[in-house]
Amino acid sequence: MDFELTEGQKMFQTMVRDFCVKEIEPYAAEWDESNKFPHETIKKMVDAGLFAVHFPEKYGGSGDEISFAIAAEEVSRASAGLGVAYLASLGLAMYPILMHGSEQQKEHYIPRVINGAIVAFGLTEAMAGSDVAALETRYTREGDFYILNGTKIFISNGAEAQFVTTFATKDKLLGYRGISAFVVDQGTFGFSVGKIERKMGLHPASATELIFDNCKIPVANLIGEEGRGFRVALEAIDASRVSIAAQALGISQAAFDAAVAYCKERKQFGMELAKMQAIQWMIADMATDIETARLLIYKAAWLTEKEGHAPPKESAMAKLFASEASHRVCHKAVQIFGGYGYTKDFAVERYYRDQRITELYEGTSEMQRWTIARQVLGVK
Ligand SMILES: Cc1cc2nc3c(=O)[nH]c(=O)nc-3n(C[C@H](O)[C@H](O)[C@H](O)COP(=O)(O)OP(=O)(O)OC[C@H]3O[C@@H](n4cnc5c(N)ncnc54)[C@H](O)[C@@H]3O)c2cc1C
Repeated sequence: MDFELTEGQKMFQTMVRDFCVKEIEPYAAEWDESNKFPHETIKKMVDAGLFAVHFPEKYGGSGDEISFAIAAEEVSRASAGLGVAYLASLGLAMYPILMHGSEQQKEHYIPRVINGAIVAFGLTEAMAGSDVAALETRYTREGDFYILNGTKIFISNGAEAQFVTTFATKDKLLGYRGISAFVVDQGTFGFSVGKIERKMGLHPASATELIFDNCKIPVANLIGEEGRGFRVALEAIDASRVSIAAQALGISQAAFDAAVAYCKERKQFGMELAKMQAIQWMIADMATDIETARLLIYKAAWLTEKEGHAPPKESAMAKLFASEASHRVCHKAVQIFGGYGYTKDFAVERYYRDQRITELYEGTSEMQRWTIARQVLGVK
């Protein structure tokens, strides 16, 4: 048993933290206000090597799943909006190719991400949210091509993505066995971006419709085997939940740091808030939530690295706990700031809004509990 990060992981953590403090954190409030995607910052992240993390060395990558969790935490601590753009590009949207892609797909797409390509993962539809297998986007085969028809909703990075990994069914009556996974490049005939959502938080990142209207892609764009797309999607989500948990942890850490600094400065009744037991108890609970979340995340990331795929129970536990802990931590941070925490003059207001999505996407908390319970009870 060893609870220490390796020397390499510690150095990486220091490098990412320094980068985020200098290049991301000072601009996060501005991006939140303007809803602007920070393309220039993406270039700087690429130069710092942040887009190479967790990809195999063979394709130009470096680092492991624990380093990816560290980066997801640090980037999200500075800006959760940029955080989702980053971790959806490297994680969620790329796991289908990393885990099931052909050699040709890996050689083509992984270096593009390492060079800063933004990527999206298009699974959710109007009638298929938690019930993923109910998706209705259809595909047919015509010679050496697949033709896709349907609409995805709420897709992170939809407006900026250079390519998307997505899912469609041959025949809805086949249920999950009818689903296959594909990669579709931006600019492909019949593929377009629809409605861009106006969201509560994560403002610099887009969440959009993706429209496939007789979208024609080569058969080489099938990811894995035909009819195995449901498994591809679930394995990608299992792995990605660890980075969403790390995103929640990053937001918690930012809210906690702000609350600690504030309660040492702010005085009421002639003393610092930090000297009041009611505040101390909140700080103690926040610190314990953060420590527990970090341990669950590192364990799930470590298991993913060791076993080559994410363990569904541990990744669901990490996501469930870290996201709900972040809810508690951000709530308490606003409480400690009092009325000031409800204004846009203080970042805790943004953390409170940004945090909420971590309990919803990549499976709501109810879906995480379902996954954990099925694993624990051994029922389907
Ligand atoms: C900002 C944002 C970004 C997103 N990014 C992406 C993305 O990049 N790619 C993508 O594919 N999707 C994305 N999503 C979609 C997201 O994953 C879904 O919204 C989420 O999975 C929930 O689906 P739903 O919204 O349809 O809710 P529903 O499935 O309609 O659920 C509504 C409520 O019912 C509960 N519920 C449903 N079924 C059960 C059950 N069997 N037992 C108990 N409770 C149940 C849910 O937990 C929830 O509380 C994003 C969403 C948002 C808002």
